[in-house]
Amino acid sequence: MEKPLDILRKSIEILKTYPLCDYCLGRQFASIGSGLTNLERGRAIKTVLFMNACAQLREGSEDFEALKILAATGFRAAAKSLEDLGLEVPEAKPCYICNGVLSRKRFNEIAEKICEELKEYEFKNFVVGARIPPDVREREDLIRSEFGIDTGEDIKGDVTREVGRILLRRFDVVVEYHNPEIVVLVDIFSNDYLIQVNPLFIKGFYRKLVRDLPQTPWYCRYCWGRGCEYCNYTGREYPESISELVGNPALEFFEALDYKFHGAGREDVDATVVGTGRPFVLELKHPRRRYLDLRELERLINERAEGKVEVSGLEYSSRRELRLLKSLSPMAS
Ligand SMILES: [Zn+2]
Ligand SMILES: [Zn+2]
Repeated sequence: MEKPLDILRKSIEILKTYPLCDYCLGRQFASIGSGLTNLERGRAIKTVLFMNACAQLREGSEDFEALKILAATGFRAAAKSLEDLGLEVPEAKPCYICNGVLSRKRFNEIAEKICEELKEYEFKNFVVGARIPPDVREREDLIRSEFGIDTGEDIKGDVTREVGRILLRRFDVVVEYHNPEIVVLVDIFSNDYLIQVNPLFIKGFYRKLVRDLPQTPWYCRYCWGRGCEYCNYTGREYPESISELVGNPALEFFEALDYKFHGAGREDVDATVVGTGRPFVLELKHPRRRYLDLRELERLINERAEGKVEVSGLEYSSRRELRLLKSLSPMAS
């Protein structure tokens, strides 16, 4: 049987050469003991190392090396002990891997800003991603190969977990990896972040009830939208389109920034569509609202369209369904 990993011995060996913060030390043993954060792991290791050193001093040992190593990582109790013993206290050095960037305070500050911005959005799930500068990973890799560490995890985990935890506490939401409504990209090293609001998809059927109504906006064939004499300076061949009659009310309703109408099938401007109608998927970009009554939206669209077009059977959809719709029929857009 292989000798069990001696966490304490390995830790003091690493810290001797490379001062590490609690997160970065704990992360080297991330796969050992679940239900802990790396901050807790690192803090616990340093605490036991400190207590062992103190116990040896009580037995009359004159070896202060462990205390000095710990004090250099910023472990205050070790610095205090050295001070009490009348010994020189080494200067606390920034973490070799993260340069002191990983800290509760910094995570709280950035999460606070993110929460403030997310308050404007309705969402039930999210995911946090992290950008890590390559030199940080290089320094960590160096330590891992030098000390043969195979129990660590990627530094990303610390960033996404710490920021994610705060978001989970603040909002009534869950983490969703595959199809998140909100993606928060955190760059803790530049103290920056990016919020990506994923689109919302609504599907339904439309019936075109009048002639001369194209599915998508038709721009003037002479000026391509700029406006000319031919189009009476409207820039349009037809003043309205199904896409706009459906999309604009939905845009307002969900407080989105933009939309894209995906209608199934090619269709002549002159023909009307009857029966159940043609399927469509409406993609709403960057919506602030997500969970609304679609019957109300249906009423709003039909009321505003004044009998030119009528939508029915509105339901929440997904990018997957949009792909399916596209694969089943030639799309107008
Ligand atoms: Zn660190
Ligand atoms: Zn024109």
